[in-house]
This record gives sequence, structure tokens and C-alpha cells, in this order.
Amino acid sequence: MKKGLLLVVSGPSGCGKGTICNLLISNNESINVSVSLTTRKPRDGEVEGINYFFVPEEKFKSMVDNNEVLEYAYVHGSYYATPKNFVFDKLEKGEDILLEIDVQGAMQVKEIYPQATFIFLLPPSMEELKNRIIKRGTESTEAIELRLKNAHKELEYIREYDYVVVNDQVEKAVNDIECIIQAEKCKTNRVINNTSIL
Ligand code: 5GP
Repeated sequence: MKKGLLLVVSGPSGCGKGTICNLLISNNESINVSVSLTTRKPRDGEVEGINYFFVPEEKFKSMVDNNEVLEYAYVHGSYYATPKNFVFDKLEKGEDILLEIDVQGAMQVKEIYPQATFIFLLPPSMEELKNRIIKRGTESTEAIELRLKNAHKELEYIREYDYVVVNDQVEKAVNDIECIIQAEKCKTNRVINNTSIL
């Protein structure tokens, strides 16, 4: 059976990943989104099982030890991980899946599942990135500084990604990702492995 497409989207905090991924999945019913585990506390309005599975550190570590996660990383002072079974079950069923994860996690996925498609989201400028994080108003001054420092570190990984999408306009960025998905589905290897004609 044809395997689904695993899409990995990363980019610095404030580059609009969340907005873009939400729009992408609401426009494309066939894309499943993986809900990550985190040890971070929920922000106002965040819902358990929708935004994240919020777990205590002990539970998180036991899931990592029991090999229940595909990748995990310590980001901006909290742990984050992708539950493994959900991702592989969907891919086996031929369903596409989207992971919105940081660069450390993406590099782990690249080792385990190199056939995934890796997309890096860029803000139009670092100035704009700072403005967006401040405007979001969910972070303390220290957290904003930490996220900006981390943004520079994350940019060092950009060449490891297959595609770069600049988010200067949300609709355009979503459209770029939809085009990437379409192109990936027409890749020679993918088509010849899934056709009975040849
Ligand atoms: P936030 O706390 O703002 O929701 O997310 C902080 C960072 O953690 C973002 O860069 C986000 O992409 C990343 N992140 C969210 N879920 C995961 C995950 O499952 N694994 C990894 N490695 N990073 C994640």
C-alpha cells in the first residue's frame, strides 16, 4: 500500500508556524497533525489533546525510556516529543502527517525517516520576528530573549531542509507548502514505487 507523506515543518518561534500549520490542515482535510507531548504549562486557551498533551516531567521521561516517542528535544526550557505510534500508523495507512517541531527533533526524524519532507519557515526579517513574539504577548521578557537567541541557533540548520518558505504573507506561505506537497507526491521514486503500470 502507498505510504503517506511525512511533512516536517520547523522555524524560529514567532515565524508563524502555528498559524500556517492550522490553515494548512483546515484547507486540507487529508493532512493529519501529530499532537506533541510537552512538559510546558498550557497557555491561556490551549486545550489538552488539541494543542499538546501536557504531561509532568516524570511521565515524559518514562515515555522516552519506553521508546514511545519518535523524537524529543528540550526547547526554550521545556521538553517536547512526538508520539511514535500515531505517526507510523497513519503513514502505513497511506495518510499524510504533519509535524511542527524544532530543528533538533527534525534532525532526529531525518536519521530515522529520511524520506520525510523537511520544510523550514522563515520570517521576512529578524526585526519582524521580534515584533511578532512581542505582539503575541504570551511570553515574559526573559522568554522573549531566549526565543530570539534560539532563533539564531535554529537558522544554522536551514541547509538541512529540503525547502524554505518565507512567511511574509500567510496565504502565500500556505500555498507554497501545498505546492511542495503536490510536487513531493509526483517525485519519481514515490510514483514508481506505487504504480502497477511499470
Ligand atoms: P511552543 O511552546 O511555542 O508551542 O513551541 C516551542 C517550540 O517547540 C516550537 O519551535 C515548536 O515547533 C517546538 N515543538 C513543538 N512540539 C514539538 C515536538 O513534538 N518535538 C520537538 N522537537 N519540538 C516541538
